[in-house]
Amino acid sequence: MRYIEPHAHMVSRVTDDYVDMAAAGCAAVCEPAFWAGFDRSSPQGFYDYFCQISDYEPKRAAKFGLPHFCWLCINPKEAEDVNLAKEVVGLIPQFLDRPNVLGIGEIGLNKNSRNELKVLEMHVDLAARHNQLILVHTPHLEDKLKGTRLTLDVLKADARIKPERVIIDHVEEHTVKMVLDAGHWAGMTLYPESKCSRPRAIDILDVYGTERLWMNSACDWGVSIPLSVPYTALEMRRRGWTEEAIDQVIYWNPAKFMSQCAKFRLA
Ligand SMILES: [Zn+2]
Repeated sequence: MRYIEPHAHMVSRVTDDYVDMAAAGCAAVCEPAFWAGFDRSSPQGFYDYFCQISDYEPKRAAKFGLPHFCWLCINPKEAEDVNLAKEVVGLIPQFLDRPNVLGIGEIGLNKNSRNELKVLEMHVDLAARHNQLILVHTPHLEDKLKGTRLTLDVLKADARIKPERVIIDHVEEHTVKMVLDAGHWAGMTLYPESKCSRPRAIDILDVYGTERLWMNSACDWGVSIPLSVPYTALEMRRRGWTEEAIDQVIYWNPAKFMSQCAKFRLA
């Protein structure tokens, strides 16, 4: 089996996780910028984090034979302070030429607040000005449907944004269709407790097919399983999916989306 882990917060994981992922057939790991488990107190904290995921973490991943890529932004959980967000967004362009940076993400909404929306628009503008791919986080539980609608509206309102260059992540049964219908890619996040479980993700694939969909483990600071993607592939086999179809979902789909950035290379 081979797969790409398209959304993993490796800064929160130990080296054993890299070993397990490489042994399970992981061909590349991609790390969106997100909350670090705590609120940073200044723009400098984000600068250091951007250095960590664009410089240090790829070296750590390389020790296990894994190409590592990243996305940059100020995440929605820390985007309530618009002035802080402006300063952080201003730091990002100097990192965009780094060899492992794929685009702007994971941007989006957390509580669907007015300030989060302003910061989302700021990021969409940044991506458009620098011709960057976009990776979007969607809120959880009762905020998800509204937050996904609001996000789609922001993306649609900016004529410079090409829908196929945007992935909306953490989709569930009630949001996947509107994302695909808008021409975007959709990501399903496999969590043991919330978001999408393995059986639910496969049910979604049964209904919507394998085009423009990917799966990720998020593997972050909370309860999460770094091998969720290969475990789900085993479940797909059990449910009668062909090796070819599994390979398309867990390997070719993320490769196809991220190859829209010329810096994305598999070893
Ligand atoms: Zn994430």
